[in-house]
Amino acid sequence: MSSVQIRDVRKSFGNFEVLHGVSIPIEDGQFVVLVGPSGCGKSTLLRMLAGLENITSGTISIGDRVVNNIQPKERDIAMVFQNYALYPHMTVAENMGFSLKLRNASSDEINKRVKRAAEILALAPLLERYPRQLSGGQRQRVAMGRAIVRDPQVFLFDEPLSNLDAKLRVAMRTEIKELHQRLKTTTVYVTHDQIEAMTMADKIVVMHDGIVEQMGTPLELYDKPDNQFVAGFIGSPA
Ligand code: ADP
Ligand code: MG
Repeated sequence: MSSVQIRDVRKSFGNFEVLHGVSIPIEDGQFVVLVGPSGCGKSTLLRMLAGLENITSGTISIGDRVVNNIQPKERDIAMVFQNYALYPHMTVAENMGFSLKLRNASSDEINKRVKRAAEILALAPLLERYPRQLSGGQRQRVAMGRAIVRDPQVFLFDEPLSNLDAKLRVAMRTEIKELHQRLKTTTVYVTHDQIEAMTMADKIVVMHDGIVEQMGTPLELYDKPDNQFVAGFIGSPA
């Protein structure tokens, strides 16, 4: 676990600035949800946390380390994407162990970690199956398993449920929350779905056009929205 500090972060693509000075403090073990309309800069910010996109200005720290110039592999972060493409030619166990293999872990260590993750995610009976033999929800759990085996300081989720049907989405929300309660890993979770934000977050960060409109607990945002945008987005009568 680790705290994460995002301080006055700006991001431009060419002359086009998409993040205009974003500051978000995240406590150790917190489940923070970034929410906002499509195009407001959520994925860009998450990719910067992961080290997949450079920072135009400002700083990002994980724990007590500024990571602006630290490579993704050295950041101790695991990311679950929206399109959680599993490797079709690998079993569940191989999919889950692959990132450890890339990091030169021993096969004993890989087996141990894959087994533990499989138990946490109720995937133990499915370890020898191939992705095509799994349901959508099971595939999503394997995608999470790939992140868990790394035992990272921080989990990043980018709209992980948006390709699932409504019923499965509700079930997976609960699973992800239970996982967080169990592992207590600091989590930054991106969604454009306000219900997901309201039900999952310790803290919600409402973004709009590259700025943070407001952050607070779901109740704070619902009860005391700072402006019309937040009120409209969170769905309270402002
Ligand atoms: P969100 O995830 O909130 O939908 P994004 O972070 O994906 O938003 O995108 C924010 C803005 O940055 C959008 O206007 C998008 O078109 C732009 N953008 C994202 N990535 C790039 C890129 N690699 N090059 C140019 N523009 C980009
Ligand atoms: Mg996005």
